Amino acid sequence: MRELKTETIEFTDNYEDLSTDEGFQFLFYCERCDTDYLSEHQPCPSEPGEGILNGVGDLWSDATENGNGAAECEMAEAERVALRSAIAEVRDHFHECSHCGEWICDVCWNHAVLLCEKCAPSTTTLPSSST
Ligand SMILES: [Zn+2]
Ligand SMILES: [Zn+2]
Repeated sequence: MRELKTETIEFTDNYEDLSTDEGFQFLFYCERCDTDYLSEHQPCPSEPGEGILNGVGDLWSDATENGNGAAECEMAEAERVALRSAIAEVRDHFHECSHCGEWICDVCWNHAVLLCEKCAPSTTTLPSSST
């Protein structure tokens, strides 16, 4: 039995990973329209300060000798942390429609009924007696 906790990454497929060697950055976009939100750039936590550059070089060659596993793991973990904080950052601008399950922006969101505009167009809240 595995006790491993699986992080819930709420944004599953509507973001783009723009991370580079220098840091992490994610672009989140609405699944309905072209609105997107760029999260703040987060520098790599393990970014070497001045003076330790040589030490890092040693560590790096160690890691590569060991199949690069440790370094890869650390990067993946750091990226997950970065992604979480990026999500927290843009979260206020996005909503998950409980009906269609899509992540959409404020513009496409019907705040009155807490569903997206497609599932619950604002017009339906108007009385329509035409049938
Ligand atoms: Zn939208
Ligand atoms: Zn919907």
